[in-house]
Amino acid sequence: MSQPPAFPAEVGGYRIDILVAGYPGKSTQNGGIGWSTVVLLRGHGRVILLDTGGFGVRKPLMHRLQVLGLTPADVTDLLLSHAHWDHIVNYQLFPQARLYIGRIEMDWARSMPPGETAVPEMYVEALSREPGLTLLEEGDEVFPNLRVEMGPGHTLGHLVFVLTGDTHDVIFAQDAAKTRAEFVSKRTDMTIDAALSEATIEKMWSLLRAREGNILLPGHDLPMILVDGEVRLVGQRDAGILASFGMSLEDQTVFDLSATA
Ligand SMILES: [Zn+2]
Repeated sequence: MSQPPAFPAEVGGYRIDILVAGYPGKSTQNGGIGWSTVVLLRGHGRVILLDTGGFGVRKPLMHRLQVLGLTPADVTDLLLSHAHWDHIVNYQLFPQARLYIGRIEMDWARSMPPGETAVPEMYVEALSREPGLTLLEEGDEVFPNLRVEMGPGHTLGHLVFVLTGDTHDVIFAQDAAKTRAEFVSKRTDMTIDAALSEATIEKMWSLLRAREGNILLPGHDLPMILVDGEVRLVGQRDAGILASFGMSLEDQTVFDLSATA
């Protein structure tokens, strides 16, 4: 392809905005930070959010919707890739939205004992009782041009959404391939089954290679494209930590975590 894609992008009758770009990192001492990708798709009469991020992203998420002229009530549909806390815990902020998650994922998540995985037990339990919940399976065309593929490994019933456009496709991998490092190496951090994860990543390589110009969005990294067979990131990282080491609130230290893409 001559020009790399830019977001917002128009594919398959949807405008795609990356509301929150995922970040490929975790803390050294304090556990996961869960900075995950949140995507907005608008088209075919729907306002669709793909995943919701974790608690910490609530304010920026609301702000970014507001900048686009949207309120939480405008979101008609919420697609949930899998049942980890950094992707689902904000679902209740969108009271009008229909909810979608994998059938296998919901059964698996509800069977997880507390503390063994990143499943937020009470949220999953509440989600399972939502009257507007639809359980998805492989091959479902959830919306026009948007189909469901299974992507197990990171969790048992992780979903990958594939948007088919006129000239190219967008593969919403989320945590089926969290980072470029996972996608390129085909080895995964945080998986319940490394062999399943590897098979899922092979499948996503096929999806990415299927048409020139295809784009893959991982759950904790920037979008990826293929250029001469090499995986390239699209866009720039923008992340940092604001620390208060001093004696006043004004005394702040900024740690730039952007790194170069
Ligand atoms: Zn996850």
